[in-house]
Amino acid sequence: MNSRYDILFEKVKIGPVTAPNRFYQVPHCNGMGHRFPQALARMRGIKAEGGWGVVCTEEVEIHPSSDITPYNQGRLWDDSDIANLRLMTDAVHEHGSLAGIELVYQGLAGKNHYSRLPTLAPTHASVLGGYPMQARAMDRADIKNLRQWYKNAAIRSKKAGFDIVYVYAGHGLSVLMHFLSRQHNDRSDEYGGSLENRARLLKEVLIDTKEAVGDTCGIALRIAVDELLGKNGTQADGEGSDIIEMLADIPDLWDVNVSSWENDSQTSRFSQEGFQEQYTKHVKSLTTKPVVGVGRFTSPDAMVSQIKRGVLDLIGAARPSIADPFLPNKIRDNKLDTIRECIGCNICVSSDNYAAPIRCTQNPTMGEEWRRDWHPEIIKPKHQDEAVLIVGAGPAGLECAHALAKRGYEVVIAEKNKVAGGRVLRESQLPGLAQWKRVIDYRLNALKQMPNVEMYFDSEVTPENLTEFGFENIIIATGSYWKNNGQSRETRQHLVHDGSLQILTPDDIMSGVVPQGEVVIYDADHYYMASVLAEKCVELGCNVTYVTNSARVAEWSDNTLEQQRIHNCLHEKGVKIILNQQLHKIVQNNVVSQHIYTRKENYTPCKTLVVVSERSPNDDLYTPLKDKHPFKHFALIGDAYAPGLIAQAVHSGHLEAQFFGSGKDKAIFKRDKGLGFNR
Ligand code: ADP
Ligand code: SF4
Repeated sequence: MNSRYDILFEKVKIGPVTAPNRFYQVPHCNGMGHRFPQALARMRGIKAEGGWGVVCTEEVEIHPSSDITPYNQGRLWDDSDIANLRLMTDAVHEHGSLAGIELVYQGLAGKNHYSRLPTLAPTHASVLGGYPMQARAMDRADIKNLRQWYKNAAIRSKKAGFDIVYVYAGHGLSVLMHFLSRQHNDRSDEYGGSLENRARLLKEVLIDTKEAVGDTCGIALRIAVDELLGKNGTQADGEGSDIIEMLADIPDLWDVNVSSWENDSQTSRFSQEGFQEQYTKHVKSLTTKPVVGVGRFTSPDAMVSQIKRGVLDLIGAARPSIADPFLPNKIRDNKLDTIRECIGCNICVSSDNYAAPIRCTQNPTMGEEWRRDWHPEIIKPKHQDEAVLIVGAGPAGLECAHALAKRGYEVVIAEKNKVAGGRVLRESQLPGLAQWKRVIDYRLNALKQMPNVEMYFDSEVTPENLTEFGFENIIIATGSYWKNNGQSRETRQHLVHDGSLQILTPDDIMSGVVPQGEVVIYDADHYYMASVLAEKCVELGCNVTYVTNSARVAEWSDNTLEQQRIHNCLHEKGVKIILNQQLHKIVQNNVVSQHIYTRKENYTPCKTLVVVSERSPNDDLYTPLKDKHPFKHFALIGDAYAPGLIAQAVHSGHLEAQFFGSGKDKAIFKRDKGLGFNR
C-alpha cells in the first residue's frame, strides 16, 4: 500500500464498536429490501469482502403504519423479520466489517399502501409525493407509541446482529425530520414552535435508542444539515448547525448530508466529487464524535484530503461502493488503476424508483451476486481454449471482451473507428457528461494490460470480410444509430416534410455537424439526450427551442433525480421550452407540432430540426447471416441487439461473456423467494 493512504485504513471507534477502517458504506436503497433478502445479503457481503469497514442497510421500516410499498425497503415490524436481516449481518461479519441498520418511520412520506393504516405525522397535512390523502397529526399517545416502536426496532436490530443502529432524520423521508422542519411542523405543543421543541422527539428517540441498545451498538444520527431551500428550510449556517450543537455528543456517530435525495445524490452532470463539503465541513467542529459524509468519493487523494483537513472521519459512499465494491481493497493493494469509478449517472437510483433490484452502469454484477452467482472481481475460468472475435468497441463490446479475457479466452476486437468507446466516447463530449468516459477508461485500461487481448482500430468489418478472419466465435457489438424519420414511441408514421429544414440527429451533432440558425430540438426520448444537445447548441451560438410531447422536460430523468435540475438548466441557458406538443410535419421553414390532447397545431419557425426520438440497431453484420452462418458461436449484443441504456449494453456484454461456452439458457437465474414469512 502507498503510505500516503495509511490514514484511510486506521480504525475508528463508534461508541462501543470499532470500524476496522474509514471506508463506510452509508445506507443506500437497492430495490431488493425485504422482498429479496438473500440477494441483498450477498450484495452487502461482497461490499464487506471488498474492504468496506462498515456496511449499512437501506431504510428499514419499523412499523406497519410506516409502510413504503411499492418500494422494496427493509422491514422490521416484528420478530419474524429478524431472520432476513440476520442474513445480511452474517454476510458482513464474515469479512470482519460492521453492519449498520437505518431505522425509519416515514411520517408524511409513508402512504401505507400495503397495511392501509392511517399515516401519522406532526400535523394534519397532505402526504408528500402526490398521493391524494392526508396524514393525521400525532397526539401525545401516538408520540409515546412511536417512541416505543423505535425502541422495539432497536432491540430487534441488536438481535439481528447489527453493530450500528441509526436514528434517521434525513432526506425529508423521516417523521423525525418532519418534526424538525418548520415547513412540516406547525404544532403549538412542546413538540412544535422553537427549534428546541421541534428537536424534542429526535432527542427523545436518540436517548431511547441509546438506552435500549447503546451498551453494545454504536448509535448513529443521520441528519440533513441543509435542505438547499434557502431560508425556507434548514440551512447549514443556521438551524443545521444549531441542531448539531444541541445534540453534539449524544450520538456515537454523525452521518451528515444535504436533503432532499435529489440534492444528496446529485449526478455528475450537476456536481463534482466532494460537492457536499461546503455544507458539511463545519460539523466536525461542533462535536467530538466521528463524522461520516458523502460526495461521490472515488479518488483516494480526495478522501485523504477530507480527513486531513478535518472535514470527515469516515469516507461515506453509496454510489462509489455500488460501482466498485472492492474500492477499499484496491487502494490498500495499490491497484488504483483498476478502480471502477462511479460515473454519477444515477441509473442505480432509477432501479429503486422502479422498485426493481439495483443495477449499475459501471458494475454489471450489481444485483446479480446471488441470483447468477456473479462477483465483481472474480469470474469463472474458460471452459476450454477458444478464440473470440468481437466487432465493435463500445461499452457492450469492451465489457464482453474484458470479461471473456478474464476468463482466459483469446480475444480480438475489431473497431471501425480510430479509437474505442462507441457511443460513450461521443456522449461524454457533450455538456456535463465527461465522467461517463470512465466506462471506457476502466475497460480499456484493463484490456491493454492483458496478454490474451488484441485490439485493431480503423478496422471496419463487412459482411464480406467477416468470414475471412478465420474465427469460429464471433460476437457483434456494433451499436445503433439515431433515426431521423420521426418514429418514436408515440408514432410509427414517418415525419412528413417539404425539405425546407435541415434535419439532424444526435449522431450528426456528436459527429461535429453545426446546426444552422434557429434550432428546434424535438424530444420524444425523454431522458438526457435532447437536453444536453440543447445545451450544446446554445454553446454553438444557436437560439434553441426545446419541444416535447411530454408534460415535462426530460421526463424520465425524474428517475435519476435530475428532472428539476435539467429544466432549470435549460431555463437558465435561455432555451425556450414548449411542452405537450407532438411533432407533426415540416412546412415552409416551420416545425409544425400538435397539442397532445387538443390536436391544435403550433408553428415554430426555424432553420434546423434535431430529432431525438429512437434508434435503429446496427445489426447488418448479424441479421442476414443469423440462420446460415458457418460459425460455432455467433451472437449479437448491446445496442446492436436492442438500443437502450449504457447500463444495459454493459450488462449485455457481461451476460454474453459469462454464458459463453456454457450452452445454458441466459434467461434462467435463481429466484429469491426469501425465507417465506416476511411479506
Ligand atoms: P454499444 O452501446 O452496444 O456498445 P456503441 O454504439 O457504443 O454500442 O458501440 C458500437 C461500436 O461498434 C462503435 O465504436 C462503432 O464504431 C463500432 N462498429 C460499428 N460497426 C462496425 C463495423 N462494421 N466494424 C467494426 N466496428 C464497428
Ligand atoms: Fe455510479 Fe451510475 Fe453505477 Fe449509480 S449506476 S453507482 S451513479 S455508475
